[in-house]
Amino acid sequence: MSSREGSFNKFLSHVYVERRALDNPHTGEILARLPRSEVILIDHYKDIFNRGRQSYGMQSRARALILAVNDGELIYPGAPVCQAFGQKNFYYTASSMNCPFDCEYCFLKGMYSTANIVCFVNVEDYFAKIRELNDPYVCVSFDTDLIAMDSITGQASLWVEFASENPDVLIEMRTKSAPAELRAVPNVIYAYTLSPEVISERFEHGAPPLRARLRSAVNAIDGGCNVRICIDPMIYVSGWEEIYGGFADRLASELDLSRIRDVSIGTFRISASYLKTIRRQEPYSEVCWFPCDTEDGYAVYPRTVRDDMRTFMRRRLERYISGGKIYEDER
Ligand code: SF4
Repeated sequence: MSSREGSFNKFLSHVYVERRALDNPHTGEILARLPRSEVILIDHYKDIFNRGRQSYGMQSRARALILAVNDGELIYPGAPVCQAFGQKNFYYTASSMNCPFDCEYCFLKGMYSTANIVCFVNVEDYFAKIRELNDPYVCVSFDTDLIAMDSITGQASLWVEFASENPDVLIEMRTKSAPAELRAVPNVIYAYTLSPEVISERFEHGAPPLRARLRSAVNAIDGGCNVRICIDPMIYVSGWEEIYGGFADRLASELDLSRIRDVSIGTFRISASYLKTIRRQEPYSEVCWFPCDTEDGYAVYPRTVRDDMRTFMRRRLERYISGGKIYEDER
């Protein structure tokens, strides 16, 4: 351990708990999984989460957990920047916010002023809201990585249990983690976000290596899970054609692509205001300082770059998988 690392608290060494969350049974379960953490009572999660002058970069080395009750909006219509995969009733929700990993390009750094992780323990209120919707398709792990945090928060398992009891609700759970096992439920899609090894090593700090994520995806497919592969965001680097071409070939050699649900492709894109914030935090980041264009409030690769990258990837994947299973985000 370097002296620099040694000066930071350990991951989740501190847990802030809203007083009103204390009685929730999930609070007790989560605290029981963190017996060494110091527990600090607070009035409202925003007192910690929204506090000014926090450093995302510093906090990402020593994240705290905040257990709270969400009495605000619980479910949102799917954002136009997100791929709906042809589903009509597209929603997303965030029963947790922030992620244990530290991808350089992550929009969360622009969206939140803190790297601390919030877990809303009143997850049953989310379930009640979703039951009121008509055949919804709900993405539950956009603003976090529920599967990566499941051993602590238990929320991924709760969402899967909810889906198993509500077959009309289609759930998508996105992850960069590499769980050994996942529960197969017909209306749960496990969406693995995968990147070529060189991209992952350079930009996806803290996330499991590609080989572990692939092994996990193989196990999930063999276990009968619905598996989606998200090659999104594709990151422009010198030699990207060779890198992403080799990556597609590797996916085809290690995964049975005929048994996956679908694949999504998209190039790096982000709210322009989030990118401005991220650039302050990542002054030397190759990925964040790429000269993007701004279109409709989003920072995107120049049209020719993004079209070339997506088209290249589609064509390469079509060697192995039907074009009808490939979804592209054209921004
Ligand atoms: S895994 Fe996803 S949510 Fe987590 S840091 Fe990386 S991009 Fe952000």
